[in-house]
Amino acid sequence: MASGSTGTSGNALAHPMANGHGPLSERIQIINDEKQFTPELTSQIERWGLRDAGFNYNIVAVFGSQSTGKSTLLNRLFGTTFDVMDETKRQQTTKGIWMCRGKDMNIMVMDVEGTDGRERGEDQDFERKSALFSLASSEVLIINLWEHQVGLYQGANMGLLKTVFEVNLGLFGGKKAQDGTSGRTLLLFVIRDHIGTTPLANLQATLSSDLQKIWDSFSKPAELNDRQLSDYFDLAFTALPHKILAADQFEIETRNLRGRFMDKANPEYLFKPLYHKRIPADGVAFYMENIWEQVQSNKDLDLPTQQELLAQFRCDEISAVAFAEFNEQAKPQKRPIEAGKVVERLGGMMRGWRTTALERYDRDASRYHQGVYKRKRTDLIVSLDATLSPLFLGQLKNLHKACLGAFKKAILEGLKGEEYNFADVVSKAKARCENDFAEDAKESVVVNSEDGNTEWNWQEELELLKEEVKSVADQCRKDETKKMVNAIERNFKKQISEPVELALNRGSPNMWDQVLKAFQDTLDKVESTYLTKATSFNCTEEENAQSLAALRRRAWQALRSKIDEQTADSVFVGRLRVHFEERFRYDEQGVPRVWKPEDDIDGAYKKAKDQTSELIPLYSKIVPLDSSMAYTLPPDAISSDYGSSLEDAFDFESSLVVFSETKALDLAAKFRKDADLAYVEAKRSTVSSVAQ
Ligand code: GDP
Ligand code: MG
Repeated sequence: MASGSTGTSGNALAHPMANGHGPLSERIQIINDEKQFTPELTSQIERWGLRDAGFNYNIVAVFGSQSTGKSTLLNRLFGTTFDVMDETKRQQTTKGIWMCRGKDMNIMVMDVEGTDGRERGEDQDFERKSALFSLASSEVLIINLWEHQVGLYQGANMGLLKTVFEVNLGLFGGKKAQDGTSGRTLLLFVIRDHIGTTPLANLQATLSSDLQKIWDSFSKPAELNDRQLSDYFDLAFTALPHKILAADQFEIETRNLRGRFMDKANPEYLFKPLYHKRIPADGVAFYMENIWEQVQSNKDLDLPTQQELLAQFRCDEISAVAFAEFNEQAKPQKRPIEAGKVVERLGGMMRGWRTTALERYDRDASRYHQGVYKRKRTDLIVSLDATLSPLFLGQLKNLHKACLGAFKKAILEGLKGEEYNFADVVSKAKARCENDFAEDAKESVVVNSEDGNTEWNWQEELELLKEEVKSVADQCRKDETKKMVNAIERNFKKQISEPVELALNRGSPNMWDQVLKAFQDTLDKVESTYLTKATSFNCTEEENAQSLAALRRRAWQALRSKIDEQTADSVFVGRLRVHFEERFRYDEQGVPRVWKPEDDIDGAYKKAKDQTSELIPLYSKIVPLDSSMAYTLPPDAISSDYGSSLEDAFDFESSLVVFSETKALDLAAKFRKDADLAYVEAKRSTVSSVAQ
């Protein structure tokens, strides 16, 4: 046990005394003789290992006159290391309030060092303040007094008790009706140097009636006038023999009393739960400091308000710690999300961080004022979600991009090679894309809310994705349709070529009927080919109409160029010459003629020439004999510029004209030259045959 005074060393405030027994036996002067509160209490409570004790701890304080063996008693009861007055020097120990942790028990023990000099106003001030302070935090208040002080109504103790009662009313008075238990405190009277001639029961009776007198004597606020001492305090009495004169007995009795503090199973256990002030251990330091501050500045001190303030402060602190830890976890994922990455199992991680943060918070903060705890919890959730929400939204955006990319790639892959079903490829890729998105988006949701909370909504993003997927698919379908129309066009050209050549070669009067029939038949065929394929593409009506218009227009153009090819000058003039010669140089039986002088060369020449010339108007315009065979390009096909380079407005009527009148005259002239040559040759052949 330490002995001797520590004097008024300023160090005592900042540096708890170690006493060579490790941190558990350290003591701390929580309020020094300058009435300052130590800033070290939080760390001291942590060093005592009590920070996480929650409500699983007790606080006891002692009151009494100077040198009545208070510190000695505490050290015996709780194994503490408070200074005891040195017998030889009779030196007073440091004024203030000291605290120790009980040895092997979760008890914070406060040794309140007062003075006897109650006549000095300043001391009364300290007594009043330390009484307030002790009552606000302690479950049990030990009132320590000599046996011979009992019954001395004017004695220092009675003044002290009056102070205790008065300040207690201020602390709990008005609130008692609402919360009957929270303000209750046990006053344990320990009568020292009990000789035994007066039984404890008598001493107890004397003290009780004195207490009642004190209670009745001081003036209370009108609304509290009918309050009884027993509304606020439980009283207990015990006596201890003389420490020196009855040392053995003293030891036994103190050990008994110690048992009543330590052993919950003891029928006389003193720390009843209803005395507990319900300040979580990690908030004790802040609470006490705040109380002391209020006391010092003589402000009203109602404990429920203090507890709420404490709760606010501590819940904020606990929340900040939980949030900081949470942020540490969340931070590394911010970058990749911002860089456009889809973070695997982000939802699981986010839920994990959030749960951990809330568990942290709940573990420490739920012990505080419930209203405050819940309010701050809501605030914390808002902060957590404000951090998570951008990650969630970023993830959705990235997911959207990734899924769309995968969709495009799948389509490109699917449309490679020849053998594929376009509609199949697209619908599979689409289903896959939307599924993948929905699955990952669901995983990223942090809170599944049934209350219509839109914070974790991903359906909207899915709708956007669906729209884009659709427009990509539409574009692909258009490209694909174009490709198909091109293929059909090529096929059409192939099919039309032979019948057109045949008909134009023959040059029969119904030549155009044959050409147009071949055209119409082939066009019908390719149109139906188109429609069969287009159905599997899910083309729209409008798209089909456009494609068909283009197809018709291009078919017509193909026909026209085939006709142009077959009626090019040299080809056409050649055909006329053949036609002419067939009639002029061969007879009706197809036998080559050998002209004799008596032959009517002129007549034959003229006939053949006239017959051949008739062909020119036949070829010059596409007009079938049977007018029902005439083809008219539909207006939408005329205006269609689908897939072809923009030309000048297409004039269908003029596309029916194969060659103009001028052109016809020109061709006729060319033909006549050929015919004339044949004529001259024929004439010459008769001359030469006569000459022979
Ligand atoms: P405090 O000022 O009330 O804390 O008293 P201390 O514990 O410092 O003790 C004051 C003096 O009283 C010391 O010299 C102690 O040895 C002595 N003392 C302690 N307990 C008792 C007791 O039970 N009876 C008597 N007569 N003296 C005691
Ligand atoms: Mg002392």
